[in-house]
Amino acid sequence: MSSRKIRPAIAVIGAGIAGTSCAAALLRAGHDVTLFEKSNNVGGRMATRRVQWTDASGVERSTDLDHGAQQFSAQSPRFRAVVARAEAAGQAEFWQQRVYAAFPEPRMRLRVMPVPDMPSFCRNLLGGVPMRMGQQVQRLQRGVDGWRLVFSDGESAGLFDHVMLAMPPAQAALLLAGHKDDWADALAAVPMTPCWTLMAVTDDVDWPWDAAEPENGPLAVVTRNDRKPGRDGAVGCASWVAHATAAWSEAHLEDDPKAVVQMLRAALTALMPPDSQRKWQHVGVHRWLYASLGQPSSGHSECWWDPVIGLGVCGDSFGAGTVEAAWRSGDELADTVAASLDTELIVVEEIPQVMARVRITQEIH
Ligand SMILES: Cc1cc2nc3c(=O)[nH]c(=O)nc-3n(C[C@H](O)[C@H](O)[C@H](O)COP(=O)(O)OP(=O)(O)OC[C@H]3O[C@@H](n4cnc5c(N)ncnc54)[C@H](O)[C@@H]3O)c2cc1C
Repeated sequence: MSSRKIRPAIAVIGAGIAGTSCAAALLRAGHDVTLFEKSNNVGGRMATRRVQWTDASGVERSTDLDHGAQQFSAQSPRFRAVVARAEAAGQAEFWQQRVYAAFPEPRMRLRVMPVPDMPSFCRNLLGGVPMRMGQQVQRLQRGVDGWRLVFSDGESAGLFDHVMLAMPPAQAALLLAGHKDDWADALAAVPMTPCWTLMAVTDDVDWPWDAAEPENGPLAVVTRNDRKPGRDGAVGCASWVAHATAAWSEAHLEDDPKAVVQMLRAALTALMPPDSQRKWQHVGVHRWLYASLGQPSSGHSECWWDPVIGLGVCGDSFGAGTVEAAWRSGDELADTVAASLDTELIVVEEIPQVMARVRITQEIH
């Protein structure tokens, strides 16, 4: 007769930076984790998109633009250590940005920049976490044996002893309804603002700034993507990512994307030196429905965990609505869950053909 530890099966839903930090930390702690993501890439709002165009000589060209989070801070010691490891491995650099804020004084700002793109930061942190991509969880079902995930195509996966939700609050609220209504109500009420983002490639422009934060007009942040460290910019071109303000995005939420392109392109043009010959090689927009927190969380908790039903929630809405806040929330949830499961893990005698799987949670106490 041999003995072994029973490892509960844990599903983490959402492969943004919060789900990444949660799943990676649970795996490091020795748990049986699977990460589910509805899109085909990790990173969530840490996103990079390839854009393509044909230049004047008929040559097909492309470049990658970070159209979500532009860069991030690393202030907490634990996150700083993660960034330092990424920097040592050549997976991140610090970017000393020259930011146009209030003319004529530029501001210098030091921020973390994953290389070669934003999702790579999550990919590298995930290491060997088992993942199931392209799986949108539509519903959670809870039975006596555990949790089952029901996907939008009608398929399902399970059973899991514990489920962690790592996504914007409005989306988490939909999955929590019927299981934790008080959490669902609280998350549904979290104010999230949308963002229209312009992605553009022009002829090179003599622009003294790496980024701009105009005080007026529709644009909140404009970044020269080709000036970021570790990016392969298109030679001879300037590439731009311009985020509209929350108020402007809200007011134009349902506008035709073509009209949004025209308006944001005009706003970006106004920030460049005049040049009537300038060519716009590529221009497009992306609409983020849940871009940023309307206001930072005033709560004291960085995540929620209910050990009785085995349900947890993390994400940027538990903090300042930033990459760092989301990482911290996922990491905190993993710590909290691991600590509570450590007290539940027991050594069982393995008796052939008696039980394939034993479920051990506080609910059977
Ligand atoms: C335009 C923009 C600019 C920003 N700029 C900055 C910045 O400069 N600096 C900064 O620090 N932060 C910035 N942010 C905020 C930052 O990107 C977020 O705070 C952070 O990335 C949130 O991470 P998260 O893991 O909590 O959520 P997300 O990144 O949203 O990840 C959630 C994941 O869950 C998946 N998902 C959702 N529902 C389901 C489901 N039902 N089933 C399966 N998968 C699901 C999503 O596809 C997504 O991959 C910006 C955000 C945007 C949109």
